[in-house]
Amino acid sequence: MNIHIPSEKLSKGAAKPSRAEAEAAVRTLLRWAGEDVSREGLRDTPARVVRSYEEFFNGYDEDPVALLARTFEEIEGYDEMVVLRDIRVESHCEHHMVPIIGRAHVAYLPGTRVVGISKLARVVDAYAHRFQIQEKLTAQIANTINEVLQPRGVAVMIEAGHQCMSTRGVHKPGSSMVTSRMLGAFRDDQATRKEFLSIISSRSCVSVET
Ligand SMILES: [Zn+2]
Repeated sequence: MNIHIPSEKLSKGAAKPSRAEAEAAVRTLLRWAGEDVSREGLRDTPARVVRSYEEFFNGYDEDPVALLARTFEEIEGYDEMVVLRDIRVESHCEHHMVPIIGRAHVAYLPGTRVVGISKLARVVDAYAHRFQIQEKLTAQIANTINEVLQPRGVAVMIEAGHQCMSTRGVHKPGSSMVTSRMLGAFRDDQATRKEFLSIISSRSCVSVET
């Protein structure tokens, strides 16, 4: 199978800065906030922040298409919906560089093959661990599953709290944003869409953390 999805790799043309440059940038922001960067408590902070960034944004090094490459066809004719719900989402808003925390529900209707269920969660992470807006994150997850697995339908719903809404700006903690992308049968067939919505709402008792 040869599916080409345009790479979302960052730094188009721009060389990646060195670790020292990244640490210097953190020092600049600390000074901008009013800090004395030479004090003891902050001595190792720039290095820690840069290491945290490697963790927060490791999605740029992941290839979501490759994550879905290994599929299984011995499914005994299984043709019902596969749903992975309440997948923790940790992302960062590309407008303010602060966390977006929530959960995703991912479903598909298999065609002739299925994928290991953990791979769905890894696709969520591969796109979430980048600078994002929730709408684009939702669409990227759904589109990639659709193009690689070629199922009869895909549904992705994300509910998330945005710290740029809760800790700054309008200061509305507790609000959550809900986005969804429905493809194939989930878009065209009312019954399929309703079944998905009822499965994901059947025990939604985990509150969204922000
Ligand atoms: Zn924001």
